[in-house]
Amino acid sequence: MDKPKISIAIHGGAGTLLRSMMTPEKEQQYLDALKLARDVGYAILENGGSALDAVEGAVRHLEDSPLFNAGRGSVFTHDGKHEMDASIMEGAGRKAGAVSLVRNIKNPISLARMVMDRSEHVFMAGEGAMEFARAQQAEMADDAYFFDSFRHQQWQQAQSSGAIQLDHTPLDEKKFGTVGAVALDASGNLAAATSTGGMTNKRFGRVGDSPMIGAGTYANNVTCAVSCTGSGEYFIRGVVAYDVSSMMEFGGKSLHAACEEVVMKRLLELGGDGGLIALNRAGEIVMRFNTEGMYRAARSSSGVDEVLIYS
Ligand code: ASP
Repeated sequence: MDKPKISIAIHGGAGTLLRSMMTPEKEQQYLDALKLARDVGYAILENGGSALDAVEGAVRHLEDSPLFNAGRGSVFTHDGKHEMDASIMEGAGRKAGAVSLVRNIKNPISLARMVMDRSEHVFMAGEGAMEFARAQQAEMADDAYFFDSFRHQQWQQAQSSGAIQLDHTPLDEKKFGTVGAVALDASGNLAAATSTGGMTNKRFGRVGDSPMIGAGTYANNVTCAVSCTGSGEYFIRGVVAYDVSSMMEFGGKSLHAACEEVVMKRLLELGGDGGLIALNRAGEIVMRFNTEGMYRAARSSSGVDEVLIYS
């Protein structure tokens, strides 16, 4: 009998540093961090772990890196805080967990997993999610842990120019940086996870697509697992992750064709920029984006081995 296929893909956001601003040292740092996170997830799959554990493991690793806008590297809100969003979903029973507007949580993706595994609910936000986190003894970290001088500078610039984060000034070139993972395990199950600090200088309890099942994250063994990154408002309106799945389920499209249609046509028609990673039960991986680059990496038992930034 053939050995079961395993595969994983991860992303670290679609709003990469412009090529012109990237130094060889920085580039190497990103590539190393992506490779490490991918391999953490892949090792879980290789050892017979579930796709769910693999995506959580890979995303935790990215959350722990200050390079990405999630967990430790989360951007500053208008009030100078860090408010994080995350969601996770598995494709067999379509169970899901999500948190939004949480603070001082070291690994929001694991809190989302706790919502899925230890509550009757799918989505918890704000103070209630924090109360749940404390009750579940989720690991906390103080403000200093999340402080990063680059993010702070970015926030000060955004504040002084009054920039709202949906315009496309060079200074918010790094407004993205959300992280995510999708995986297929040896039992043929799919899972997806996404985690973010949202957008620099965000206000009013703004929530993006990342914690929204169907928008930023989706997994269904019948079709695919998807994790998105980009201008969240458009991904919400386009119900992007579910749109890819629907095109496969109801439109008869292949994974590749569905991702192409959604990212390069439907999302652009709405005015949204960004990208996604997706994979199916055959272990095929698609990493598609309509921005200059997307931090990304993939590995599979069929020989895929990639760590990339630009197109
Ligand atoms: N989609 C995220 C949000 O809108 C941002 C990102 O992907 O970097 O919060």
